[in-house]
Amino acid sequence: MASPTKSKCPTCKTEVSAPPENRFFPFCTQRCRTIDLGRWLNEEYRLVNDTAEDEEDGSAGQGDA
Ligand SMILES: [Zn+2]
Repeated sequence: MASPTKSKCPTCKTEVSAPPENRFFPFCTQRCRTIDLGRWLNEEYRLVNDTAEDEEDGSAGQGDA
């Protein structure tokens, strides 16, 4: 059969084990899962807003007056 599920965390590329050992699969930790989700939501937000084109650099200093 297929080899045991060895996967890599989409966020930090760390090797993760499969559930139930790893309840955050396919992420390694809750943190990475949250980060990925945040990214995802961000992209949706971007589609809706369509204002920022290239924020990939992330050097924005908003909230600093
Ligand atoms: Zn990770």
